[in-house]
Amino acid sequence: MTPQPQKNNHAPPPPPDTATGTPAPKISFVSLGCPKALVDSERIIGRLRAEGYNLAKSHQDAAAVIVNTCGFLDTAKAESLAAIGAAAAENGKVIVTGCMGAEPAAILEKFPDLHWISGPQDFGSVMRAVHEAVAPPHDPFLDLLPPQGIKLTPRHYAYLKISEGCNNRCTFCIIPKLRGVLVSREAGDILREAEKLVAAGVKELLIISQDTSAYGLDLNYAESSFRGRPVKAKFFDLARELGQFGVWVRLHYVYPYPHVDDAIELMAAGKILPYLDIPFQHASPKILRAMRRPGGAGKVLERISKWRAVCPGLTLRSTFIVGFPGESEEDFELLLDWLQDAKIDRAGAFKYEPVAGAAANDLGLPPVAPEVAEIRYRRFMEHCQKISAGKLKEKIGKRLAVIVDQGGSRASVGRTAGDAPEIDGKVHLVSRRPLRQGDIVTVKIERSDAYDLYGTAI
Ligand code: SF4
Repeated sequence: MTPQPQKNNHAPPPPPDTATGTPAPKISFVSLGCPKALVDSERIIGRLRAEGYNLAKSHQDAAAVIVNTCGFLDTAKAESLAAIGAAAAENGKVIVTGCMGAEPAAILEKFPDLHWISGPQDFGSVMRAVHEAVAPPHDPFLDLLPPQGIKLTPRHYAYLKISEGCNNRCTFCIIPKLRGVLVSREAGDILREAEKLVAAGVKELLIISQDTSAYGLDLNYAESSFRGRPVKAKFFDLARELGQFGVWVRLHYVYPYPHVDDAIELMAAGKILPYLDIPFQHASPKILRAMRRPGGAGKVLERISKWRAVCPGLTLRSTFIVGFPGESEEDFELLLDWLQDAKIDRAGAFKYEPVAGAAANDLGLPPVAPEVAEIRYRRFMEHCQKISAGKLKEKIGKRLAVIVDQGGSRASVGRTAGDAPEIDGKVHLVSRRPLRQGDIVTVKIERSDAYDLYGTAI
């Protein structure tokens, strides 16, 4: 997987003060990083709210600040350090958690007076640090946590994390070092969470993990109970069960393994969205080998064409790395040609960064000069823009289901089944009646540009 940059420092509305009339202590929260980190933030905020803490609107108003950091790339680390610095300047008690917290030396060197620092998913120690900073309000009548937990996403969609950690060893990535090996949740547990989210009004479930297609491997695909029946902890079984809730189900961070083929049948049958987010990372066999990524590019092309034969409406989103050590002009052009052949609908790229501790730094491969990487990045984006524009043009005249993200009396903004929130395109639409966030409407597509669609609700 490759995290998508994302920043969330918005918070749900605060609950009322405690029944005793004592104002609840406030905690300020900064959430950085990918959707997996966002889910961790939701869990911490859920615990804070369950214990009666309120969320502060500013660091100055808070008894302590929690910064959930991202440590995936150097740019993400720099953003995390800046957030910690801002918190430290405005509040004496800063609690650092998340991926970057797994390697505390770099943080403590700059900020030796932090209140607490711990790695990702160490929710217990974050809560102990909060208790030390300010005791929780003791109110036995307090029950502030809604059944679906606390969500930092808009009400109509939610990320659902099915596993943590990763068994792969991609040479550019330190996530397995930071988050450990694959640990999957039981299928019944995931399905119960999905059920609560749907009951709370969620219309779209975004399935995330580090490697969604590996789900359940560590559990030996064990069965667990949901609504009185056994369900296997297996990629296909879970996708099928999630498809029965009658909401949009979108799969992220999938590897192109053969067993993914079965999920395409579910997509063709309309059970889950015809959308796959597969971080291919590159297409040159030489670079894929150096990255320790699976799948020859040719084999993947074959698989993609089979998928499209079964499910013609399939949207493929992917991320790539340009400027990986040893990437020659020939490798890069091979990637551009492959993108053209694969007709990847939505593609993003990162310029390679030699993250400290990544195995790629020790492969003995010649680094790509930053200015060359920059030029390749721009060429990549221009190339993908043209592919995207061509693919979106094909949608003109079609009637597509669109989920509304921003409602309005006449003009609204939404997404098709082929667009995930935050990372893909939008549909700008006009309607005769007012539309609300979370409505799903049919839109006749009239126009397109490089990334977005324009149309009228019918
Ligand atoms: S090792 Fe590879 S699959 Fe695992 S988290 Fe890193 S990039 Fe994703």
